[in-house]
Amino acid sequence: MFDFLILGGEVLDGSGAPARRADVAIAGDRIAAVGDLAQAEARTVLPAAGSIVCPGFIDVHSHSDTFLLLEPSAPSKIFQGVTTEIVGNCGASTAPRTGAYMLPSDWRDKRYPGAWSSVAEYRALLEQVRPAVNVVLLIGHNAIRAGILGYVARPAQAGEVRAMEQLLERALDEGGAGLSTGLIYTPGRYAAPEELRALTAVAARLGKMYTSHMRSEGDQLLEALDETIGLAQATGIRVEISHLKTAGRRNWGKVDAALDKIRAARAAGLAIAADRYPYTASCTELDVILPGWAAGDGRAAVLARLREPATRRRLRDELLWRVASYSSTKGTEMHTTKCSSPSFVNSLCAAPCRERTAESTTFVSMTILDRLSIAVS
Ligand SMILES: [Zn+2]
Ligand SMILES: [Zn+2]
Repeated sequence: MFDFLILGGEVLDGSGAPARRADVAIAGDRIAAVGDLAQAEARTVLPAAGSIVCPGFIDVHSHSDTFLLLEPSAPSKIFQGVTTEIVGNCGASTAPRTGAYMLPSDWRDKRYPGAWSSVAEYRALLEQVRPAVNVVLLIGHNAIRAGILGYVARPAQAGEVRAMEQLLERALDEGGAGLSTGLIYTPGRYAAPEELRALTAVAARLGKMYTSHMRSEGDQLLEALDETIGLAQATGIRVEISHLKTAGRRNWGKVDAALDKIRAARAAGLAIAADRYPYTASCTELDVILPGWAAGDGRAAVLARLREPATRRRLRDELLWRVASYSSTKGTEMHTTKCSSPSFVNSLCAAPCRERTAESTTFVSMTILDRLSIAVS
C-alpha cells in the first residue's frame, strides 16, 4: 500500500531523457516505484493523464527569505511547480542581523511570528512555520558589511575585514549555503576587491558557493565579469552570476563577449554558471538610482544631500544622463514596488509615468525619495 499513486502522466525525470508514460508511487516522502502501476493500491490516487509529472523546480534566484515566515504555504511558488528556493540573493539576507544592519525596506515593517538575529535563530523560526518549499539560504554581504561597518561609504580596513570574515564564517557554519553580493547596493557597492577576495576565500574554504549581483550589468559589465571570474581564480569558489544581462541599448552588443568570458572560464576549469530572467524591465530598491557619491553614510546623510539645491541639480543631471542613455526606443521603465505609500506614488506617477520620459522618471524618483524617506538604508 503506497501513500500516493500518480497515474497515467508523462514522466520527465530530469535526466534529459524524453517524456515517457508511466505511473509514479510514493511512500512516505520517497518515490517508491515508477512504471506500470495500474494494479497497485494507494491511500490517495491522483489521475494525471494529459499532464507532465516531473521533479519540483528549483528557483535559484529568490528573495522570499522573510515572506516564507509570513506565508509558509508559498502558493506563488508551489503553483508554478517550484519546490526549492534559494534565498538571500543580491547581498540581502534576513540573517545575521547584527550591528547597524537594517533589513531591506519591504521586509522591515512586517510582523513576523518570532524574532531572530543569528542564522541559527532564523532557521529555527523557519522550521517552526514549516514552509511548503525547501529553502537554501545564502548569506548576504550587505548584512555582513552593515553588521560590522554600518553604511559608511568607504573601503573596509583590515580589522573590519577580519571581523566580517568571522561573522560570515559563523553564518555559514550555522547553515548558510554560500555568500551573495549585491554590488550596486549600499553598502556592498563600497567594498574593495580585497574585501570580496577575503570573504569569498572564507566561503571557499568551507566548501560553500558565491552568487553575485555584479557591480555593473551595463556599461561596466565586462569589467564586472572579470572581477567575478577573478574571485573564482583566486579562491577556487564556485560562482553563480545572478540575472546575467546587458542593460542599456548601447550595451546590448556585449552579450557575445560576456558569454565568451564565461565559456572561457569554464573551459579553464572554473565552476562558474549564470542565470537570467525572461523580462526586460527591472524592479528594485528605489535608492539604487543614486550614484555612489550620493548613496552612502546612512539615511539621514542621504536625505540631507537630496535637500541641498546644488547637490540636487548635480544629481538630476547625472540621473537624466544615465536614464536617457539606458533607454530603449520605448523609454525607460522603472518599476518600484518597495514604497511605503502606494497611493502617493500612484497619484504622483500617474501622469508622467504614462509617458515614461527620462525626465519624468527621474523627477518622480527624486521626489519620492525626498518626501517619503523610503528605501534609503
Ligand atoms: Zn535578486
Ligand atoms: Zn540582483
